[in-house]
Amino acid sequence: MMIDILIVEDEMPIRELLRMSLTGAGYRCICCDNGLKAADLLEGNTYDLILLDIMLPGMDGFELMEFIRLLDIPTIFITAKRDVSDKVKGLRMGAEDYIVKPFDIQELLARVEGVLRRHGKLDAQLSVGGLEINTESMQVSRAGEVIPLTHKEYEILLLFARNPGIVLYKTVIYERIWGGEYPEHTRTVELHVQRMKKKVGWEEKIKPVYAVGYRLEV
Ligand code: CA
Repeated sequence: MMIDILIVEDEMPIRELLRMSLTGAGYRCICCDNGLKAADLLEGNTYDLILLDIMLPGMDGFELMEFIRLLDIPTIFITAKRDVSDKVKGLRMGAEDYIVKPFDIQELLARVEGVLRRHGKLDAQLSVGGLEINTESMQVSRAGEVIPLTHKEYEILLLFARNPGIVLYKTVIYERIWGGEYPEHTRTVELHVQRMKKKVGWEEKIKPVYAVGYRLEV
């Protein structure tokens, strides 16, 4: 099931960064650069999560929050570093969390995942490609048999399991699992993916996509 995230941010580079990072992590993103347009979108559509900037043309994030609260959609405020009082106000108004610009992508993804989990939008138990994955006990099994994996292999598996049919770039896998920039000439991602797919029996299911990444076909 796709998770839909509405991004409301008028600064194009930040909006694009959010969109690219979240799309890379398997979420479906809808972007908007104006508070009034966001209100229109919210009237006709449902979203699982909203990333909401505060200073916006049309209608600001606080005004929009009044409206969002009625819809009961979990919201993360995006605030500028200087506006500490905004964070407090945002949380008091019912925002679930906030991130401060400039933000770290890993942190953003972790916050998004945390909020989605708290709202029961990410299942603890996943059934993908013949595997049962329990994200609370971090246990993977096939037909009742537990498959021992290293922590990294487990994390990579989970990334694929949450993004079936989507191309996961090696750079994205590296950034999500190891953090930091993708080093040149590294075979780390290839080696871990090879080992993981062999252990869980996904040799035929994880297909290479050109030289850039992989796709789980289930
Ligand atoms: Ca803004």
